[in-house]
Amino acid sequence: MYDKISLIGMGLIASSMAHGIHRHGIARSLVGYTRSQQTREVACELGLVDHMCNSLEEVVEDADLVVLCTPVRTFGQIARIIAPHLKPGATLSDVGSVKSYVVKSVAPHVPANVHFVPGHPLAGTEHSGPRAGFAELFVNRWCLITPLANSPKEPVERLAEFWRILGAQVDYMEPTHHDLVLAVTSHVPHLIAYSMVGTADHLHRVSKTEVIQYSAAGFRDFTRIAASNPTMWHDVFLSNKEATLDILGRFTEELFSLQRAIRTGQGDQLLEYFQRTRSIRKGIVEAGQDTGAPDFGRIPRQQET
Ligand code: NAP
Repeated sequence: MYDKISLIGMGLIASSMAHGIHRHGIARSLVGYTRSQQTREVACELGLVDHMCNSLEEVVEDADLVVLCTPVRTFGQIARIIAPHLKPGATLSDVGSVKSYVVKSVAPHVPANVHFVPGHPLAGTEHSGPRAGFAELFVNRWCLITPLANSPKEPVERLAEFWRILGAQVDYMEPTHHDLVLAVTSHVPHLIAYSMVGTADHLHRVSKTEVIQYSAAGFRDFTRIAASNPTMWHDVFLSNKEATLDILGRFTEELFSLQRAIRTGQGDQLLEYFQRTRSIRKGIVEAGQDTGAPDFGRIPRQQET
């Protein structure tokens, strides 16, 4: 698909892409760069790329597709450095979880003869780093592409095909709309998980041991989400402020309404509410975006004898 692909950053997303690119033979050559020597060594040991470069300037040299896979708030600075070294006709993309901020911080640096096509694979785990990646990460997940108004068709379609080969389903969205949708489906849920786990941590009436030992499914799932990459999420919230605060405001109103229903004993309101939310879960399972197996398909732990 591309003669030479360049990945900047070697964490969960980039290493998963690298596994997929090798598995499906998408590029003749795959090169990478990441800021720390330690991560560069791990990436080499795992054979993630054909060649690990020592600088940003070197990694983009002659590349037909360059993908930014570092935290979103680093993109602007990286784009500024690589811009003069990008190959004419190349496609510059990214995997950032936020899109308007990325367009604002990257687009001004991109030369006129390079196609900037932002993207966001909706796939991840709570693990980070080069060892966390696996080729199947994107399979049956969505990848949202947010082309610029002046993006030519060919590079956009080629990038879409690239994600399809990695197993994703592709859709197109306008960047601001993407940020609002993701605030609802991902960013605010993460913030709620962080705050719920933080609340339990502050609850001195229940000892920490009890919180961990007796963690019920609900709390356990919050802890999984709240274990997500701190730098990545710091960047997401600061870069998607408006949509996050908008959805957070609506969430707070819903919470107050549920709080009132509980205080005043409005059981019918609670039942109707929970039936509605249950149908949303059903829709997600029917759309193939999660398993319908009990306990999210977790394998029950062996009974200790
Ligand atoms: P990750 O596993 O933590 O990897 C981050 C990579 O970025 C590492 O190679 C790290 O380099 C590098 N990096 C970190 N800070 C940097 C800085 N200040 N300057 C230059 N490089 C830096 O992260 P990830 O989960 O792959 O996320 C990468 C991108 O994918 C983010 O933009 C995120 O928004 C997006 N994304 C993540 C998920 C998810 O669930 N994780 C899902 C979709 C999209 P060193 O190791 O060398 O320090």
